Parts: sequence; structure tokens; C-alpha cells
Amino acid sequence: MALPTLWIVIPCYNEEKVLPITAPKFLAKLNDFIHDKKIKENSRVLFVDDGSKDRTWELIQQFAQKDAHYLGIQQSRNRGHQNAVLAGLMTAKDHCDITISIDSDGQDDINAMDAMIAAYTDGCEIVYGVRSDRQTDSWFKRVTAQGFYKFLRLMGVDVVYNHADYRLASSKVLQHLADFKEVNLFLRGMFPLVGFKSTSVYYERHERLAGKSHYPLSNMVSLAINGVTSLSIKPIVFIAELGAVVSILGFIGTIWAAVMAFKGATVAGWASIVCIVSFLGGIQLLSLGVIGEYVGKTYMETKHRPRFIISDQTWEETQEKEQEKKKHSQ
Ligand code: UDP
Ligand code: MG
Repeated sequence: MALPTLWIVIPCYNEEKVLPITAPKFLAKLNDFIHDKKIKENSRVLFVDDGSKDRTWELIQQFAQKDAHYLGIQQSRNRGHQNAVLAGLMTAKDHCDITISIDSDGQDDINAMDAMIAAYTDGCEIVYGVRSDRQTDSWFKRVTAQGFYKFLRLMGVDVVYNHADYRLASSKVLQHLADFKEVNLFLRGMFPLVGFKSTSVYYERHERLAGKSHYPLSNMVSLAINGVTSLSIKPIVFIAELGAVVSILGFIGTIWAAVMAFKGATVAGWASIVCIVSFLGGIQLLSLGVIGEYVGKTYMETKHRPRFIISDQTWEETQEKEQEKKKHSQ
């Protein structure tokens, strides 16, 4: 098999503190692979600046000037981690054979890439990076993250347990992923839908090397809700089931009330009426909320808005430079 071209895709949002530490590590890893003849020399490290407000994009441009293996694209504004990863993958897919997406903060162990590439060589098209333990997380993050995966499973979303967005995907898989046109992105739930032969490699997740996390509890909750409502309609099925049960109970209750009334055994039932009204009111509001979530999503999907807009990229410059160099050497 011919050597593959690898593009490592790295989303970055306000990462000026950590990029100077991690970028050389990604490049060193890439160079090791090139040196060991595992990937082609034209492999690249692609940074996706997700509309950062600090000096992240300037840093990326500086890297790209220093070494031709570094590339960068800039999103026109902050769109969130998932869209940044997708922008990178969709850009990379036409230039390479395999991509590996990884966080910029050094939390994911880059040495797991060895096993990922080995698995690709063995015929896997998707290789999921799975964290083997959560020792480095705080107790709170560990419990909420585990709850997150359990909740997704319960709600009918097929995700690989403890896998975030550290994964190898071949360009073949990405060409098919491009046909999944949804605007509400939950990549880790979408890759299993694409299919193809896949496997997992295990790694220990470290602490962030610098800077701070962008995923507080509120972001985790919205990611979980988005994950469920973009990929599964189980909540609506639950509501329908709940509605059926409540209706049956209501029917029984009505007959019971009628029988009691005929017997003349009715009393002023203030408490029971209040209970029933508030119970039903709560269920109805909750159900409307869940259904509204889907209506809202459908609304957003029908707009077919672009999922990312790339406002700048580094390699036009470098290509121009290459052409200039060629001209000079002629
Ligand atoms: N990120 C991004 N856009 C955002 C938020 C985060 O591209 O709006 C990137 C961030 O730079 C990092 C990755 O997504 O490379 C994961 O983010 P973070 O480390 O904050 O999340 P955590 O590891 O704490 O879950
Ligand atoms: Mg992180």
C-alpha cells in the first residue's frame, strides 16, 4: 500500500497560551511519522481558528510561515468546537488520505496516533480515540461526563463510550460525511452512522497544558441535548408513550369518578383536582418543550445555512511563495 498523506486537524479557540507549547509537539509527531515512513512527506498540521478573540490566529500564521507543514484556516466567527472540527475535516478531505482530529490543549495523548495509523494500515477507516480512565478529571467533571454518555445511550444515540473528538477518519469516510447535511452537529454520533470498518484505541487523557476549558456544565448540557435531539427521536416516542399511559389513567379515573358520583359518595375533591391539574399541566409543558426543541431544529435545518465560513487561510500565501521561489530558481 502506498504511504498515506495525513492531515492533523486541530480546532483552536482562544488558545494563545497553549498553542506555543502544543504546536511543536504536533509537528514533531508528524515529522516522526514522515521519518519512519508511515506517512507521506506532504502531510500537514491544520489549525482551525474558531474566531478567537486573542492572538491565536496570529500565532497560527506565524507557525505557517516558519514551517510548510503547518497550515491554518480561520472561521469568520466563533461557531463552536463541532463546527470548527467539521470545517477542518471538510477542508482536509480533498488534500489527504487520512485525518486525525485532536484538541489543541494537549489533553489527548498524541502517542495514540501510532496505534491509529497502524489500525488504518490494517484496513480500518475510522479509529476512535477512547480515554482509558478519567483520573485527571475533577470528580464533578468525571461524574457529569459519564452521565452524559449514559444519557445519550438511554436516549437512543449510538456513541462510543468515553470517545470525544480525537479520531482518525479516512478521506473516503469524510466524503460520505459531507453528505450528512445537518446544521446541528454532533460529530461523535454521526461517524458511527457513516459506517465502514472501525476500531478504538485507548489512551490516558492528561490535564490541559495551559489555558482553561471552554466546556463548563452548561455547555455539556447543551451538547447532550443537541446530541439527542439531532440524532434521535426517542424523546418524542417517550412522550407519546407517557401520553398513552396518562390517558389510560385518566380514563380509569373518569369511570371511577362517575361510579362514585352515582353512588353519591362524592366529597369536595379540591386536593385531588389540584393534583391532577398541576400534574397534567407539568407534563403538557414538558412535552411541548421537547416537541418545540424538534420544531426549532427542523426550522434551523430547513434554512440550509452554511455550517462554517472560512474567512482566511494560510496556504495561499505559502503556495504563492512556492511559485515565487520556483520563478526565482528558473
Ligand atoms: N474549541 C473551539 N471552539 C469553541 C470551544 C472550544 O474550537 O468554541 C476547541 C478548543 O480550542 C480545544 C477543543 O475545542 O482545542 C476542546 O475544548 P476544551 O479543551 O475547552 O474542552 P474540554 O477539553 O475541557 O472538554
Ligand atoms: Mg480540553
